[in-house]
Amino acid sequence: MTAPLAPFLPPAQLGVMGGGQLGRMFVHAAQAMGFKVTVLEAAPDSPAGQAADSLIAADYSDAQALAQLGQSCVAVTTEFENVPAASLELLANHAFVAPAASCVAIAQDRIAEKHFLAACAARSGVPPAPHMTIAAPADIDAIPDLLLPGILKTVRMGYDGKGQSVVRTRGDVRAAFATMDGVTCLLEKMLPLAYEVSVLTARGFDGASVVYPIAENVHRDGILFTTTVPGPNVAADCAAAAQQAARVIVEELGYVGVLCIEFFVLTDGTLVVNEMAPRPHNSGHYTMDACVTSQFAQQVRAMARLPLGEVRQHSPAVMLNILGDIWFADGAAAPREPDWAKLLALPGACLHLYGKEQARPGRKMGHVTLIAPTLAQAQAQLVAACAILGIAP
Ligand code: ADP
Ligand code: MG
Repeated sequence: MTAPLAPFLPPAQLGVMGGGQLGRMFVHAAQAMGFKVTVLEAAPDSPAGQAADSLIAADYSDAQALAQLGQSCVAVTTEFENVPAASLELLANHAFVAPAASCVAIAQDRIAEKHFLAACAARSGVPPAPHMTIAAPADIDAIPDLLLPGILKTVRMGYDGKGQSVVRTRGDVRAAFATMDGVTCLLEKMLPLAYEVSVLTARGFDGASVVYPIAENVHRDGILFTTTVPGPNVAADCAAAAQQAARVIVEELGYVGVLCIEFFVLTDGTLVVNEMAPRPHNSGHYTMDACVTSQFAQQVRAMARLPLGEVRQHSPAVMLNILGDIWFADGAAAPREPDWAKLLALPGACLHLYGKEQARPGRKMGHVTLIAPTLAQAQAQLVAACAILGIAP
């Protein structure tokens, strides 16, 4: 028997691909544990770059920069799912990479992802939506009636509902497909959603996995609006089924790192698995203030081959995303800073801002998590926070 590989201990240098807010919160968590962090990101003054110990300013596929990152760090992770899988493979020549390129490659391709999730269904008990690949106009004639109305999604690079159109007829599919620049698409049957949930999970180098409490998500204009945990609509058997499915999925992937899996709950109570993100997730931000181990601390532990942390939630929580729109409340032409002092006067309000200089409508600027002794109190604080920030509750 070979001995398990030793963990990487502080003050070892960890690397992260990407400079966004997820990278920033990862940097904070790693530094809190005494690690040093290098960020690879081309954009100047990025949220993660601001916080990092060192920055490699380069494109995600710059071979020289990747070699530099891999050689200077003991382990490398990613903060966005569209990181080129080839870059992660290159990094793996020098450093421990978690999650692995092969796992990220599945999550960033909606067809590979759906095939994988469908293959897991026998063990997980939770299937994905009925779907088919639309790679050429000829495929459109072969669409079975069952798949319409549906949603046509680009196979790659979709997020926050971008690259999607609702299609009712084969004619709609033809028109939508024509606008997608010839890229391969996935057609999914439009399902009657009662609500949406996500399950955050992490798996360590030793194969041990943890599953966080199920989170209930509300979207607005395709962007996550709130996450509530425990979910007010979620029945205990539904939560157990989603958590069990998440455990199977993370194991089948042979994953190391933090993985978030989105599910739909249909109006008849059926659970359907939608997609997965190979990184911490916006719906997991509540863990920073409401759980023993945040999703970012968990990401650090997994990539450093350390034992995973306890996922127990100690407070009911509602997370509210703060978008750039509120800087322009009441039709203001020039951006106006929201009243953070008033927001922070709310008991249990935990404010996180991402250091983005410019507020723009739809841009994720930060989030606030409202934690309270009871869910009803946290929900009441959400209403108060929305009123303070000028957001319709
Ligand atoms: P993204 O990568 O942009 O998050 P998703 O596949 O999660 O893409 O789709 C975005 C949103 O669109 C979902 O959160 C859900 O509200 C809605 N949606 C996606 N697929 C379906 C479907 N098959 N039936 C009904 N609604 C869907
Ligand atoms: Mg999604």
